[in-house]
Amino acid sequence: MNKTHQKPLSRKRLGIMGGTFDPIHYGHLVAAEMARNEFALERVIFIPTGIPPHKRGRKITCSEYRYAMVSLAIADNELFDISRIELDRMGLTYTVDTLRLMQEQYSDFELYFITGADAFREIFTWHNPNEVLALTQFIGASRPGFDADTFLKRIQQEYPEFYARMHSLEVPALAISSTDIRARVKKGQSIRYLLPEPVRLYIKEKGLYRD
Ligand code: ATP
Ligand code: MG
Repeated sequence: MNKTHQKPLSRKRLGIMGGTFDPIHYGHLVAAEMARNEFALERVIFIPTGIPPHKRGRKITCSEYRYAMVSLAIADNELFDISRIELDRMGLTYTVDTLRLMQEQYSDFELYFITGADAFREIFTWHNPNEVLALTQFIGASRPGFDADTFLKRIQQEYPEFYARMHSLEVPALAISSTDIRARVKKGQSIRYLLPEPVRLYIKEKGLYRD
């Protein structure tokens, strides 16, 4: 067979890390970096959410502050990027819509959506999970307190067609969460070493999370 007509064996891979990032911390960065390394992703694009459907109850920090914090956190990694795709869309933002747009924009790439084990286990509660899983591979990074493997075993038995696209990833455990960071700031406790220093200084300068 003429080699030039052969289909490439595998497409380039693009990592997508979605999150509220209120604020971004080392748990997010470690999960993204280990996923990039383990799954040979060309780049990882961080996508801060607009108004996340599941967090409607809580007051979310304004988009521009969350965007600025992610930018500061990834500035020193040339393989990390940030996208405004969800911030610039009005109303509720569903991952499925974002993935559709990303697949259009990056048509040469196979998408890999990176989540922590907590979000991974909830995929079937998302809007239109069938289409989500048709559009992207899924990586669930270990996160203290959340078990992805029991969940994966169930998927293997009940939804073998999805199982092939869902992967668990062991990352060095960081029991860091944005909720905990916000609570610490409110109580006047230290958040040093839980997130990149420029982000900590930004939070201080803007007076975020004090009340
Ligand atoms: P919050 O406490 O406000 O929910 P969070 O720390 O969970 O914040 P999110 O912005 O909700 O951060 O998370 C974005 C993504 O990053 C999710 O898929 C989440 O599971 C993952 N993630 C967050 N923290 C960690 C961590 N410490 N280890 C691995 N994954 C994490
Ligand atoms: Mg969360």
